Amino acid sequence: MPARILNGTAIAAEIRASVQPGVADFTTRAGRPPCLGIVLVGDDPASEIYVRNKVKAGTDSGLQVDLQRLPSTAPLADLLALVTRLNDSDTHDGILVQAPLPASMGRGASQQVFDAISPDKDVDGFSPVSVGHLVQGRARLAPCTPSGVIELLERSGIPIAGLHAVVIGRSEIVGKPMAMLLLQRDATVTICHSKTPDLRATAHTADILVAAIGRAGFVTKDFVKPGATVVDVGINRVTDAAAAAGLFGEGSIRMGEFERRGSAVVGDVHPNVAEVAGALTPVPGGVGPLTIAMLLKNTLAAAEGRRARR
Ligand code: NDP
Repeated sequence: MPARILNGTAIAAEIRASVQPGVADFTTRAGRPPCLGIVLVGDDPASEIYVRNKVKAGTDSGLQVDLQRLPSTAPLADLLALVTRLNDSDTHDGILVQAPLPASMGRGASQQVFDAISPDKDVDGFSPVSVGHLVQGRARLAPCTPSGVIELLERSGIPIAGLHAVVIGRSEIVGKPMAMLLLQRDATVTICHSKTPDLRATAHTADILVAAIGRAGFVTKDFVKPGATVVDVGINRVTDAAAAAGLFGEGSIRMGEFERRGSAVVGDVHPNVAEVAGALTPVPGGVGPLTIAMLLKNTLAAAEGRRARR
């Protein structure tokens, strides 16, 4: 039986609808809407699209979104000065610095930015204080993508407690916080990465398999225990026709789309996993929309948190 498809778009719409009354209520009480500051450095085309979507989603939900741009030539000091200004601002409730930063800012730049963002405004949940709270099971602002995955599982009625969850990927923004959130819901968690020996066999023991790798179609059906829930976090653009045919199959609807557009967005999970998984998140339309919905939720939570601490 083909896998049940977990509709992230619909669940994200539910979350966004649940945020709107809170935003309206905050706006009435505070005399202004919650305000999200987004910083975009440079002109990376994918980042432009992600930021445009975040601005639109925020504005549609009644937030004030303040987009601040810096040129790709800006030194890290300018970015840190901007973050400090947003930290000190009375009207900005949340701060998000879009990744990736230009390579010219240096290898440790992202970490320096995470370190600089005030934990009260850290709607991405990447500052050391936010990470510490997350590890201790008392996160106020948890990272958007992994917390979106938890919402997706819970709202889809997929149990977590007592199950074995395998997370492939150990990044600070997805893999590690994902593992923490699953652990806090009483899963037994295994984290895998590029040095994990026999990854396939480990993945095959998972009841819940989360792929956050950044490699198109990496997780094939032989990685997946029949009936397992598979969450595909990956977002990869495929432009090679042979690679697309290997993923979608000649003559398929998605191959037709690829031929019209010359590219396709695919996850880290091969479409043939749908033949064995019990449930599967699609790409697009799975985890991606939830990331933005959780950003809106975190911005409202940050605004309420700041108001309560006054
Ligand atoms: P990173 O590149 O930071 O991390 C990738 C992880 O995958 C690393 O831990 C790496 O291991 C591991 N990995 C890479 N190759 C292999 C391999 N062959 N076998 C096992 N593990 C491997 O990526 P991110 O975590 O930032 O993102 C992962 C994916 O999720 C990307 O496609 C990204 O675009 C997508 N993404 C989607 C979001 C959404 O909203 N849906 C949000 C954020 C990311 P090691 O540590 O050993 O190098």
